[in-house]
Amino acid sequence: MADIFEQTMQKLAEFHIESPRLEARILLAHVLNCQTSDIICNATLNSKQQNELKSLIQRRIAHEPLDKIIGKREFYKSTFMTSNNVLSPRPDTEILVEEGLKIIPVDKNINILDLGTGSGCIIESILQERPKAVGVAVDISSAALQTAKQNAANLKLINRLQFVQADWFEEDFAAQFAAEFDIIVTNPPYIPTADIAALAPEVKNHDPLLALDGGADGFASYQRIAEFTPILLKKRGYILLEAGINQAEEIANIFTAQGLKLKNIVRDLAGIKRCVILQK
Ligand code: GLN
Repeated sequence: MADIFEQTMQKLAEFHIESPRLEARILLAHVLNCQTSDIICNATLNSKQQNELKSLIQRRIAHEPLDKIIGKREFYKSTFMTSNNVLSPRPDTEILVEEGLKIIPVDKNINILDLGTGSGCIIESILQERPKAVGVAVDISSAALQTAKQNAANLKLINRLQFVQADWFEEDFAAQFAAEFDIIVTNPPYIPTADIAALAPEVKNHDPLLALDGGADGFASYQRIAEFTPILLKKRGYILLEAGINQAEEIANIFTAQGLKLKNIVRDLAGIKRCVILQK
């Protein structure tokens, strides 16, 4: 009989899970409470572990995302807790961190705002690399903020990060911030409403709709954020925005119409124009 790793991998493959080998390894490591690198051939599971693995495999083949099954995901250099209340951190988004770090000097006391923080992965990854920086993480969902706070605590960032529950579509949104910011980062919802039904089940059934739905044309949040960005940014401050496929130029236009200067549009590893950078 094939060993437990092979069996897990075959089951995932049978249900067309994209990376069955990797995911089998991760699920097995989760059940055995060890590192993926410690998974050996012929690993043995006790009956409790066997049952647990079985139920995890059932969840995965029902297209629950792996990170939401095991409760965490690697992003940039850290591990972030995830939940159904937050958009799963994605490798595409790491480019916002990388570009942000190019702009932020290592030794400066700068102030960063993250709009729609979700798990907190963007701003917390930046703060980890910039020990003198402080930040404010905003989300409309208090449940998402709980996850972001837990992540900040795990990464020992609680002293440098404030959490604000707020809706940027509210008219007085910008008025609640006492200070102006050096940098704004954001991965707002950008999927056109009508396109959501066609997304992968892992996304449409498990990422919060609030984090996906960008309104009829996908640009509703960018339009709104562009209105108050000139108020919230310091002079010469930067905003870095994640863009969906084919959205970068339009996003740039939305922000240049508010007087910001386009600095760069950066492609992700898949070649998609993913990060739009503008300066006040
Ligand atoms: N990147 C996500 C996806 O397409 C969407 C996230 C967003 O709307 N900001 O799966």
